[in-house]
Amino acid sequence: MKDPNYCSTCSKELILKTLLDGSVEKYCPQCDKVFFNAPSPAVIVAVVNGDKILLTRSVGWNHPYWGLVAGHVKSGETAEETAVREVREEVSLVVKNLSIVGTFAHKDLDLLMIGFRANSENTDIVISQELEKAEWFNLNGNLPTRSCSIASQVVSRIRSSR
Ligand SMILES: [Zn+2]
Repeated sequence: MKDPNYCSTCSKELILKTLLDGSVEKYCPQCDKVFFNAPSPAVIVAVVNGDKILLTRSVGWNHPYWGLVAGHVKSGETAEETAVREVREEVSLVVKNLSIVGTFAHKDLDLLMIGFRANSENTDIVISQELEKAEWFNLNGNLPTRSCSIASQVVSRIRSSR
């Protein structure tokens, strides 16, 4: 999907075109459309309730660490709308008071991740089929996130802002 060699509209083979700003991008001459080699936007959300933070594990993860609710921004959505939707879909919680704690580049997955903090009114979670489990942890305790992961960076920014 990423880095296409053929136009997604007309299937013609893409050529390289030098844009006015000097960057070289893939281009369909038939549709006059540039296919930017850009990261996909995604959100990562730290759901907080008092001193508790929600961590999740997705189905199929081959490591022992936990992460945060995350997902891709869909066409037409703001990042805030994505954050609210992903939390609702993954754990059936309603969140409010969203604030951006920072943005993060996930080079391996070619994502620009927008990190949120969000508050939930209650702690009753119902997990989706995407998740293996989701649990509340003490925000000030030792969390089972992978050190240096984007989830860990989001958590440390929230801790330092309290
Ligand atoms: Zn085309």
